[in-house]
Amino acid sequence: MEAIKKHALVGDRLIHGEGTGYQDWLNWSGLDALQPLDIDACFPAGKRVLIVAPHPDDEILGCAGLLQQLAQLECEIVLVAVTNGTQSHPGSRVYTAEQLNSIRPAETQAALEVLGIQHVVSRLALNMMDGEVSSQQDRFYQALESLVKPEDILVCTFDRDGHPDHETTGKVVQQLANELQLSCYQVLIWAWHWAIPEDSRIPWNKALKLQLNPQQLAYKAQAIACFKSQLKPDQSTGRPPILSPQTIQRILMPCEVYICD
Ligand SMILES: [Zn+2]
Repeated sequence: MEAIKKHALVGDRLIHGEGTGYQDWLNWSGLDALQPLDIDACFPAGKRVLIVAPHPDDEILGCAGLLQQLAQLECEIVLVAVTNGTQSHPGSRVYTAEQLNSIRPAETQAALEVLGIQHVVSRLALNMMDGEVSSQQDRFYQALESLVKPEDILVCTFDRDGHPDHETTGKVVQQLANELQLSCYQVLIWAWHWAIPEDSRIPWNKALKLQLNPQQLAYKAQAIACFKSQLKPDQSTGRPPILSPQTIQRILMPCEVYICD
């Protein structure tokens, strides 16, 4: 039996193995009981929304449904890319860091085109080092501070999502939101993997559920298929895909869940 390990940054929120299954989450009555996210009230028309993604794909895995609904509301959307995800394939000859630096942002662009919303999204790259965001927090905070306007609404990854870059992104964005008294919504991505239904490590009482209709969910699935670098095994290292079929199935739940203080 595998010993229980703790990570220096993410503690017991470890992403390993297959994780909790899609059906386990769907069968959980607590998911139905979550408070709905009222999109018109939370994201009023005319406001600008900053979606801060640690890696190219997080904006789609986490927020493809939200993105589609915001576009319908004609909100101005700014996608802030913290890193270009260059370290997803260490030692690979198929996907070097230099190649990933252009491949991964292009995959996001293709995914936004699938969602039909590329014209309402502008992308700003902070160019932080993938996997090292926690050691660049001050620079991250300052870069973000210079982008944010007084009425903005912030969306980011959950500050206890289990991936160090996701957690740092959540912490830094929430800190800025607190400082400037802005609304902040933290989306669950890898938490669905390591957490279990009723898990006390997730503040379910602060969770808001955004329902996706079948069409929005189908577009989300098509958009995820654009991240080819993350979906194929790596022949040069023998590593499996970064996003396993189980991960994809799980993230295609008919809702997205956002934590909001
Ligand atoms: Zn990520």
